[in-house]
Amino acid sequence: MPWYRRAYLWGQTNITEKDPVQYDIPWWRQQWKRTQVQALIINAGGIVAYYPSRFPLHHRAEFLNGRDLFGELTQAAHDDGLFVMARMDSNRTAEDFFQAHPDWFARDADGKPYRAADKYITCINSPYYDEYLPAVLQEIAQRSHPDGFTDNSWAGMGRESICFCANCERKFKAATGKSLPRRADWDDSAYREWIMWSYARRIEVWEVNNRTTRTAGGPDCIWSGMNSGSITAQAQSFRDLREICRRADIIMLDHQRRDDDTGFQQNGDTGKRVHALLGWDKLAPESMAMYQSGPGYYRVASKPAAEARMWMIAGIAGGIQPWWHYVGAYHEDRRMYRTPEPVTRWWKANEQYLVNRTPVAAIGVIWTQRNTDFFGRDAAAERVDAPYTGFMHALVRARIPYVPVHGDDIAHTANVRVLVLPNVGALSDAQASAIRQFVRNGGSLVATGDTGSYTEWGDPRPDFALADLFGCHRIGAAPKLTSSRGANRAASEHTYLRLSPEWRARVDGPKVGNEPAATGVRHEVLRGFDETDILPFGGTIAPLRVDADAAVPLTLVPAFPTYPPETAWMREPRSGIPGLVVSQRGASRIAYMPADVDRRYAREHLPDHAVLLANIMRWAAGSDVPLTVEGPGLIDCHLYEQPGRLILHMVNLTSEATWRAPLDELIPVGPFKVKVRIRGRVASPALRLLVSQRSARATVADDYAVFNVDRITDHEVIVVG
Ligand SMILES: [Zn+2]
Repeated sequence: MPWYRRAYLWGQTNITEKDPVQYDIPWWRQQWKRTQVQALIINAGGIVAYYPSRFPLHHRAEFLNGRDLFGELTQAAHDDGLFVMARMDSNRTAEDFFQAHPDWFARDADGKPYRAADKYITCINSPYYDEYLPAVLQEIAQRSHPDGFTDNSWAGMGRESICFCANCERKFKAATGKSLPRRADWDDSAYREWIMWSYARRIEVWEVNNRTTRTAGGPDCIWSGMNSGSITAQAQSFRDLREICRRADIIMLDHQRRDDDTGFQQNGDTGKRVHALLGWDKLAPESMAMYQSGPGYYRVASKPAAEARMWMIAGIAGGIQPWWHYVGAYHEDRRMYRTPEPVTRWWKANEQYLVNRTPVAAIGVIWTQRNTDFFGRDAAAERVDAPYTGFMHALVRARIPYVPVHGDDIAHTANVRVLVLPNVGALSDAQASAIRQFVRNGGSLVATGDTGSYTEWGDPRPDFALADLFGCHRIGAAPKLTSSRGANRAASEHTYLRLSPEWRARVDGPKVGNEPAATGVRHEVLRGFDETDILPFGGTIAPLRVDADAAVPLTLVPAFPTYPPETAWMREPRSGIPGLVVSQRGASRIAYMPADVDRRYAREHLPDHAVLLANIMRWAAGSDVPLTVEGPGLIDCHLYEQPGRLILHMVNLTSEATWRAPLDELIPVGPFKVKVRIRGRVASPALRLLVSQRSARATVADDYAVFNVDRITDHEVIVVG
């Protein structure tokens, strides 16, 4: 097996310019050993060189003084049996370089060079990327023989800045016959082509760099630039995660911490998303900051150990390999040196269960980067990220295992019973027909908001691309998407959803006027709401035309005043405007929810919204959910399969800092009653608990293994079989 398939534990000391005079290599060798890392990322060149480069303009670290620090560290690592990825950071230079090659630099519309602090930003379409950088990579490969290369900022300038340099003008003209777009305008064909052309260039750079390093360093001397766990960040820097994963032998994730909106669970989501594209046999190590990296940014102060530890554990649950990250080789806050050791020690002891496994999940959540670009435009956080996050949180809360599924990979989605489309506005005809085929094969569908209302360019469609499946139709085409920033925020109104039929007769309470008594039976998706006829909503919905064979369990109660309180009564209690449309086609169950409850849940965190989303997904899945977990707390569950056994991660997200980093104290939860479907997968009900280091046996009933987990402090991993 090539080295990049067996380098599971990673470390990185990001070298500062001062480090050449203070880098205590023998001490760090001990730290490598203590944390049992198998591979290191060591700064080589780019913005700053840590070796005496033959290129005079390759800026030497200020305190390098002729030393070959990169070479010495690489030698030490190799002597210790570790693999080395040379780290590049190559998108800007000092002024002398700019003066020598003014035509290699990015220019704004007025011809002025783009700057970042005192540095000049290189143009990705210039010979800097085609000639200079390959020569530097070749030099490093031949001098010091690293096992591979990575690069922190390989993708050049993001889409916030259009480069108008002569290289870009000429190449764009040759590729498209058009002049460069003068400004960002998502409806302008030149801007659209510039976006796609910019993506294509990054793939070209990826391939050029790989050819260079493999030629200079041997077939396994791979180049793998860093990628973000955020698709919005990937889109802003033209890094197409799917196209990159098709080419990569390993994915180096630069995704160091959580934010308060998405929690630790976002790292589990990232791991599953990357592996779904990359394959579960390849590795995806992730840079994890051991210093305080937000909120507040303190490069040389320790992150609270519990916060760093839970980010690592949440990532491991999603298939990510831990990679500790320090800035600078000398620290006065020494606490952070201790942080990774317990996690990496646990990994080492349990490695066989943590790699080469495939997820078991009934739910697949659809995403595409194209949707982030052409539907999200300058409001992707609101239109794309929030609806996805709403579903992610609802799934985690309900302990329903899921996998992210790319919209172009629907045909290859095995085992998934339900596809969820969280406001996936931009759908191509090919994607829509793959979804239709999925439903024809008996799969179920949950879609929300503007799903399929736009083409892959974000142009309005006359009706939903999936109207035939949704059982309802738009009245008039989707509105044209706005491009301007800030104009896209979803309105927050004083609205509600009415549950039908109303259950007046079963509820104690005053009867108002001549309201109808309850008739009929409520739909399964409204389970748990027996004591209410309304749910808070907050959004607005346009009227729809509903097919005769579809049911409407929720309707809109339009906005009414909140203030003064005397005015807070419903002007129109029953609008009849559908908030949810459900239908069945053979074995397939289809729920289309025009109400943006997913986005609302991400923003407002109302438990009713989470319950509703989970109910809809459970209904769509039929009885086909492979896991139930009973017990208090917020637990992120990930279920995997290896030949003859199942592996269940239970990550404890319950804490005083669940939605507000940093976490300081781990609070144990439990006991839990767990039911895992073992049908055909597991021969014996033997259990191994990899964190509490216990063995037990499950009872088996109706294809399910049933067992208790008494207590979870940070996480537990249970091997069944
Ligand atoms: Zn340019």
